[in-house]
Amino acid sequence: MAIASINPATGERLRSFSALTREEVEVKLARAATAFQEWKNSGFAQRAAVLTRAAEILESEKRRLGALMTREMGKTFASAVAEAEKCALGCRYYAEHGESQLADEIIATSASRSFLKYQPLGVILAVMPWNFPFWQVFRFAAPALMAGNAALLKHASNVPQCALAIEDILNRAGLPEGVFQTLLVEASGVEAILKDNRVVAATLTGSEPAGRSVAATAGSLIKKTVLELGGSDPFIVMPSADLEQAVTAAVKGRTINNGQSCIASKRFIVADSVYDEFERKFCEAMQALRVGDPMDESTELGPLATEKLRDDLDAQVKEALQSGARILTGGNPIDRPGYYFEPTVLAGIPRTSQAFYEELFGPVAMLFRVRGIREAIAVANDSPFGLGASVWTQDAGEQDEFIDGVETGLVFVNALVASDPRLPFGGVKRSGYGRELAAFGIREFVNIKTIWMK
Ligand code: NAP
Repeated sequence: MAIASINPATGERLRSFSALTREEVEVKLARAATAFQEWKNSGFAQRAAVLTRAAEILESEKRRLGALMTREMGKTFASAVAEAEKCALGCRYYAEHGESQLADEIIATSASRSFLKYQPLGVILAVMPWNFPFWQVFRFAAPALMAGNAALLKHASNVPQCALAIEDILNRAGLPEGVFQTLLVEASGVEAILKDNRVVAATLTGSEPAGRSVAATAGSLIKKTVLELGGSDPFIVMPSADLEQAVTAAVKGRTINNGQSCIASKRFIVADSVYDEFERKFCEAMQALRVGDPMDESTELGPLATEKLRDDLDAQVKEALQSGARILTGGNPIDRPGYYFEPTVLAGIPRTSQAFYEELFGPVAMLFRVRGIREAIAVANDSPFGLGASVWTQDAGEQDEFIDGVETGLVFVNALVASDPRLPFGGVKRSGYGRELAAFGIREFVNIKTIWMK
């Protein structure tokens, strides 16, 4: 994919960039390796000071940074500003907790002293997606840098200005030159960088094919990876749920980030006795969404990030219909400049259709009617993905059954799935492996060194 900023609300090309040449990549790799040798010996206090200063920059410049995100990938301006704030929160979290999370850990054995020591690994490659163009990067970078690693960012090709802005923020925050660098390269350039001896590990947030490719290359050289991939999260509504709250959350869950979130609610699994009411209210609320320019503060649903994403979603909906699904509302691209798609609700999606098992990355909801909790859990688990689940029930027994029975990395009860720096985040099955955030996140890219002393 060519590296360019195209405003998805208009289709206007804002800026194009040339991919780095092999020689330019080489300079940056060498710089990263050198920078790591110094940075790994910096103290936690210095690292925390950099992250705190980055948080201040993110907060004070959130409107400028928010506008940049909105122009490049189409999320609503309010959510883009909130994303800059959340990055600041992530930086502050690790500035405050990183040192204690990586403190030596004494473990009593027959040794006179045995303990664990966490040491940084080296230069980590981060391959990141456009959908949360700041948050995805900071939730990797804040813990990785706090642990003493250096980082190279290969961001999605449609958000190059966000990628450069992140590098600029960290440099202005006082990070020594070369510790965090943006590489403007296309996806085809990733393999050679990952194979380079100076790169010791990689993290990828993105689609399954991209994850598979990076994991295969890394695996061939025994390099550690963390993968945060797609999801088709269930949103389950049981008869005891507060239906008004559930409907409001369902609309938000499906349309957050214009429907392009890994943890968006995508499959709505509703108990028979409340299904008809839920369907009616949900469809009404989806129809009532204000679709428009994402810079306009009253807009609730903006465009998809690229023309290809809009066309891919359109093809998935058409395939579902041909396979026997019904449209309850929406179903088509919107005839206006930019890459808009109608808020859409599908029902009766057969297990034989591709859509049943695929991720729908846009404002298209799939509804399923179930007889009870057993069937709800079975439908929820009938997916190759296992990222998050949102379950709506007031019944304590049912809550426990969902917590135990749903095969996902995250279960939120009577709430939408969301990431929080204090809680580990990640999936099972084909949603990936490893965890980001919290203590688990900062311990992914460290050598957990065991020390035993006689
Ligand atoms: P994508 O196509 O996989 O792109 C993500 C990143 O991977 C981009 O930087 C892309 O570069 C790069 N890439 C693509 N193919 C590659 C390959 N073969 N080798 C190496 N790098 C490659 O994903 P997307 O469609 O932009 O993003 C949406 C996906 O991300 C969805 O599936 C979503 O669920 C997932 N996601 C997951 C999480 C999570 O935490 N689990 C969070 C957000 C998003 P180019 O842009 O240059 O192609």
